[in-house]
Amino acid sequence: MSTSRPAILLFRNDLRLSDHAALTAACADGRPVICLFVNDPRPADPMGAAQRWWLHLSLTALAAQIELLGGQLVLRSGPTQTVLSQVIAETGAVEVHWSRRYTPKAIAADTVLKTRLKAQGIRAESHTGRYLFEPWQVATKSGTPFRVFTPFWRACLAQLDQVSPALPIPSGLTFHHDLPSDDLPDWGLLPMRPNWAAGFAPHWVPGEAGALVRLDHFLSARAQGYADGRDFPAEARVSNLSPHLQMGELTPRQILASLRRAEVTGDVGDRDATKFLAEVGWREFAAYLLYHTPSLPEAEFQPKFVPFPWRDTPSDLVAWQRGQTGYPIVDAGMRELWQTGTMHNRVRMIAASFLIKHLRVNWRAGLSWFHDTLLDADVASNAASWQWVAGCGADAAPYFRIFNPITQAGKFDPNGTYIRRWVPELAALPDKYLGAPWQAPAAILSDAKVIMGTTYPHPIVDHANARTAALAAFKAL
Ligand SMILES: Cc1cc2nc3c(=O)[nH]c(=O)nc-3n(C[C@H](O)[C@H](O)[C@H](O)COP(=O)(O)OP(=O)(O)OC[C@H]3O[C@@H](n4cnc5c(N)ncnc54)[C@H](O)[C@@H]3O)c2cc1C
Repeated sequence: MSTSRPAILLFRNDLRLSDHAALTAACADGRPVICLFVNDPRPADPMGAAQRWWLHLSLTALAAQIELLGGQLVLRSGPTQTVLSQVIAETGAVEVHWSRRYTPKAIAADTVLKTRLKAQGIRAESHTGRYLFEPWQVATKSGTPFRVFTPFWRACLAQLDQVSPALPIPSGLTFHHDLPSDDLPDWGLLPMRPNWAAGFAPHWVPGEAGALVRLDHFLSARAQGYADGRDFPAEARVSNLSPHLQMGELTPRQILASLRRAEVTGDVGDRDATKFLAEVGWREFAAYLLYHTPSLPEAEFQPKFVPFPWRDTPSDLVAWQRGQTGYPIVDAGMRELWQTGTMHNRVRMIAASFLIKHLRVNWRAGLSWFHDTLLDADVASNAASWQWVAGCGADAAPYFRIFNPITQAGKFDPNGTYIRRWVPELAALPDKYLGAPWQAPAAILSDAKVIMGTTYPHPIVDHANARTAALAAFKAL
């Protein structure tokens, strides 16, 4: 077949040009490539509102990058299958390539898509790239899926040298031109009236270039001390790469390659590199768990937790969402999330534990809020993490581990920098009382201009009572 007929690269959550196996395959025979992104009204995994903001900027960056190479990012709206058929009819395209997706709904959608395209005589191929390992590549000696992280990761590390090197942007890439394309602003991905995402911009540079700069900066300037520093939310020790990874602007293979280089130059020491890579491993493990347990976002991984007596208290959920629980470390995290689109991992654990165990609100309500507000919202990592905190997940924290939001604040935010940043109404309190302002003597509250119940809420539950009640409910299961 003539190689002048184009190949379509269907972009989804892989908005980059380097280390892109599907792009490399699309142009391998010298075919001109149609770079297509479809705004599907019924996507397999709908994005949350925060992530739609990111998508707008990431598509803008990708379009500019493709234009620099002399091409066009074609934007179309409609069911993916219909749009593909239209583009094939308009251009005579004979191949469609895409990066493999791993959530149950996306797998189902892509299987149907592939079958239909093949029935039309189109070569349809999915390609690897999102993870270091395919979920079917890692198994116990008896061939069953791992349920515990440590042996899973050990098995991954044993195969790490088989991970193929990251691919460059293909050279000699040519493009099919001048196709009608939607105007991105018409898709309404950015919030307007009110623009609640206004605070996001200073923190992020969506797009492949932003991702690579962030990775370089992290490895050269911040990763030293990661193993210990990563638990302290006020410190700039973590990479903040998760939204880039989630949108596929960067691959774990690229992280691995850069990390190895940074180890050689001495920018990152062994202990920090091992810890950082293991965190990337948790991302792999979450995707792996979801692949092997498709019900993970909906159903307790350990069925004994199914009858847990959740409380139906919408006002508690709202107080938590708004950062008005009266527990400063929880409130700081929830406000950081609202204002920046992310929350530090340590505080995610504390805030999630507070919702589930102190308030006994169903973990699915927290998962859903995180899905809507996190820029890195990921079906697998979000579900695996919520179930981990709830105690009902694979390899989960034991149910009796109830984070104490007062001692956690003292331990992980000892100087109160993080709490003062996000809960400024408490900024003038001495460090000692920042984790539990209601314990401060009246004179100290007054000096700090804190009026409990007015400028800052009273705690919505008493820690000791809430802990006892949660333990009793869990024990009764
Ligand atoms: C309740 C809860 C919900 C979460 N929801 C998500 C989510 O929707 N999407 C998401 O990407 N992460 C989620 N996480 C995991 C973790 O909090 C974030 O990945 C991390 O905070 C991202 O920051 P970073 O990029 O600076 O991480 P770094 O510490 O720099 O780690 C590097 C990368 O490793 C991965 N990673 C790190 N920790 C974890 C983890 N515990 N689980 C899975 N991957 C991890 C991320 O891709 C991250 O970018 C959740 C954690 C909790 C407790």
